[in-house]
Amino acid sequence: MKYTVSYPIIDLHCDTIACVVALSGGKERLAKSGGHIDLPRLRAGGVLMQAFAIFAPAQPVQEMLPLGDTPEAIFEAAYGWYRRELAENAAEVAPVRVFGDIEKNRRAGKISALLTLEDGAVVKRPADLDALYEKGVRMIALTWNFANSLGYPNAVEADMSKGLTALGRQAVERMQELGMVVDVSHLSDGGFRDVAALARKPFVASHSNAREVCGHARNLTDPMLRALADRGGATGLNFYNLFIGDEGETTIEGILRHALHIRKVAGVEALCLGSDFDGISCALEFKDYAGYPALLAAFEKHFTPREMDLITHGNALRIFRACMEG
Ligand SMILES: [Zn+2]
Repeated sequence: MKYTVSYPIIDLHCDTIACVVALSGGKERLAKSGGHIDLPRLRAGGVLMQAFAIFAPAQPVQEMLPLGDTPEAIFEAAYGWYRRELAENAAEVAPVRVFGDIEKNRRAGKISALLTLEDGAVVKRPADLDALYEKGVRMIALTWNFANSLGYPNAVEADMSKGLTALGRQAVERMQELGMVVDVSHLSDGGFRDVAALARKPFVASHSNAREVCGHARNLTDPMLRALADRGGATGLNFYNLFIGDEGETTIEGILRHALHIRKVAGVEALCLGSDFDGISCALEFKDYAGYPALLAAFEKHFTPREMDLITHGNALRIFRACMEG
């Protein structure tokens, strides 16, 4: 069955740059790759803006060692590839530094690329955030699965009630001043609580699902989903089978279960897309980014056209505008 592209998509998280392009040493490229995302498939999926995360973990992880053994070294290596990809594909892709760039790029027929950071370990003092902003970073997941300078992760049971460090609190304040989106995916429940208390602007979980539907610590409880919605934020639906609760490949039905639950407990305004493409190892019923239209065709049976607009791009645009221009 053939599906037509009917919704412009803003996807809040992928690992294409660090985990596919950089790790392959450039054998895989944004123009064409064997992963989930490349330019032809972004187009086929209906992309408006893709968030490209630089994954720079606080502690060395085996698979990232080819890029370096410190978060700083990994960041620089992956950032170099990000700049190279944007330069080489400048006719097709352009960065988003201010909110208005999204519309400017769209009018020019270009895909918007939003640079994000997964694991804020490189932040050792608040001024480091200014340097990251200068480099184009517009969203930061405060932690990955290790404790870092900013806070505690949701990967270690003992850390779950521990929240932000003093620097983590300062970082949230500085990010809001600069116009960066605070991302709580991977953060401990205590950290979520602290971000919610400090939030003067919407914040996001860029790639997390509902814990009530799939009891994984990477997902958000109903009260967390409501707290996110209360502050105008949203969570990006993650397509990893272990966070969906699917055995084997990720199914469209499985993703829908989370979307319907999140709408029920927090409202449709709390729903975005955050595939985690190129960061997840499972097979997917709709394969890769070009499968978005098939996924959305199934969503259309449960969501109104207005709701579809909000989920695919409207909520994300509202949040980025509030954070970048507010
Ligand atoms: Zn992640």
